[in-house]
Amino acid sequence: MRVSRQLLVTLREVPADCEIASHQLLVRGNFIRRVASGIYAYMPMMWKVLKKITCIVEEEMAAADCLETLLPQLHPSELWERTGRWEGYTQGEGIMFHLKDRQGRDLGLGPTHEEVATSLAKELIRSYKQLPVCIYQIQTKFRDEIRPRFGLMRSREFIMKDAYSFHSNEKNLKEKYDVMNNAYRRIFARCGIETVAVDADSGAIGGSASQEFMVTANSGEDLILISTDGLYAANQEKATSIAPEAKDLEYLEESYISTPNQNSINELCSKQDLDPSQIVKVIIYLAIFDDETEQPILISIRGDQEVNDIKLSNFLEINLNKKIVSLSTLSQEKLVSQGIKEIPFGSIGPDLKDLVLEGAKSWENKFLRIADHTAADLKKFVCGSNKLNSHRICISWESSGGLPQKADIRKANPGDRCVHDSKVRLIAKRGIEVGHIFQLGRKYSEALEANFTNEEGINEPYWMGCYGIGISRLAQAAVEQHHDDSGICWPLAIAPFEVIIVPANNTNETQRKLSEQLYKNLLEVGIDVLLDDRDERAGVKFKDADLIGIPWRIVIGRDSENGNVELVERAKKKTLLLSFEQATQKLLEEICLKKG
Ligand code: ATP
Ligand code: MG
Repeated sequence: MRVSRQLLVTLREVPADCEIASHQLLVRGNFIRRVASGIYAYMPMMWKVLKKITCIVEEEMAAADCLETLLPQLHPSELWERTGRWEGYTQGEGIMFHLKDRQGRDLGLGPTHEEVATSLAKELIRSYKQLPVCIYQIQTKFRDEIRPRFGLMRSREFIMKDAYSFHSNEKNLKEKYDVMNNAYRRIFARCGIETVAVDADSGAIGGSASQEFMVTANSGEDLILISTDGLYAANQEKATSIAPEAKDLEYLEESYISTPNQNSINELCSKQDLDPSQIVKVIIYLAIFDDETEQPILISIRGDQEVNDIKLSNFLEINLNKKIVSLSTLSQEKLVSQGIKEIPFGSIGPDLKDLVLEGAKSWENKFLRIADHTAADLKKFVCGSNKLNSHRICISWESSGGLPQKADIRKANPGDRCVHDSKVRLIAKRGIEVGHIFQLGRKYSEALEANFTNEEGINEPYWMGCYGIGISRLAQAAVEQHHDDSGICWPLAIAPFEVIIVPANNTNETQRKLSEQLYKNLLEVGIDVLLDDRDERAGVKFKDADLIGIPWRIVIGRDSENGNVELVERAKKKTLLLSFEQATQKLLEEICLKKG
């Protein structure tokens, strides 16, 4: 391909609406063009990158016995209603684009394909003899993200590889999960990106295991916690750890203390000379469930710790066996709208009486009481007295209404000690989620009555797994991981071109001829080569080559009269002066031999 035919419109300036490096560079290099918020056109060089990634994914999926399909993007609402997901995905903060057809039927644009895949399997798979089966597709997904941003990282239309596997038993599902785990590791390694596999939250009813693959980068939206010995890594949403030791509370008689204007843990500690770990902090949440019950929850947690809303939400769904529609902390305004008398925010104790809920319009009139282990483990502590401007000191659980149900609902933090080895600590990194694998269990097959006949002739729902890779996000994550001040440094395997030939002066006959000759030679041996045949100044061409990040550059300049050329390795900014033949040979070694 010749640059003059490439529609190469590069920008020197950083575009105003691009916050992170990879987004800026992809726009500056004309890889992507914004059409509307979260909607991008993939320009020719980007499409080449995406196709190279796709090719690697297809090879690895084939090696893992997955069958390629292409499923519809328009989904009938009935399918989603049967799994109970239509409302959640289309109402409120739901992310499914949806529409009505000319007959007034509701349709959604596929954000994910569990429903469609399971309904097809249901029609095709009747017997255990047909199992296991795994289908996958590479396709555009639609999600009406609340905050589309960072270019292809969080867009509203993006390319995903999604696979769905069906099994006759859980053991077989777990085996497939391991196979996919390894396939994912190979895919990311072959794409030239480094990823960390982390334990991920799989939701309360979503199944038993789930792992995300993260590209570590400061711009990542996820916080991941990694043990310094490399044996543990988890998304903070899911992570567990050992909380720091609490400071002993000097033994005093149980008593009340006056605490005017000491409504926060910080104020209380500084005025009373306490440590946050000596205090039981009480927070009131309101959970609204899918059966329309509205449950106030009284959480007790140690003052130096924070509640992890996802852990809390999972705990509630599992224990109450119903789905949460919303979970939020209670505010004074919400109390007023319920017609409830004032609650002494700032001095609430774990024994706050249910009586305060009396007269609530739609809420249950009894608290669900939960204590995080950090609070439950305290023998003596300080807490609110349920009267404004007053706290109790040296309290035990016996004298504060008894110990509520215990749970792990605290956020793990960097610096915490690890559960697997208390001598090892957690460190924090930010990550970009590029892939997610999931043991779904029987959630979807049960909902859609997708059954097979087992060896005993009995009908049962099959076991399922699902496995996603954000292809377009991965392409941008590769740039986030591989760039420098001058531009992109594409990993060879997914670079839009492997080599760029730059005649320093295209009007010089020798340089032009030699460039054309080399271009022809490289094409003949199957190297993906770009020839910068523009009559631009050398400096302009070098800047563009740096920006678009082709891994190898051959500069044919004045010294070509003596048969010499420059070979530049983009990522290392390393230049070698070689003879024409040596340069060709080196490229063959670096590219063709590696490709195999
Ligand atoms: P996130 O937590 O980032 O919103 P998710 O967990 O909702 O993602 P999955 O349903 O697991 O996403 O989708 C599989 C993969 O698709 C993700 O691992 C990610 O790489 C990619 N992906 C998800 N949402 C987007 C998006 N809005 N834009 C680009 N890629 C996305
Ligand atoms: Mg995910």
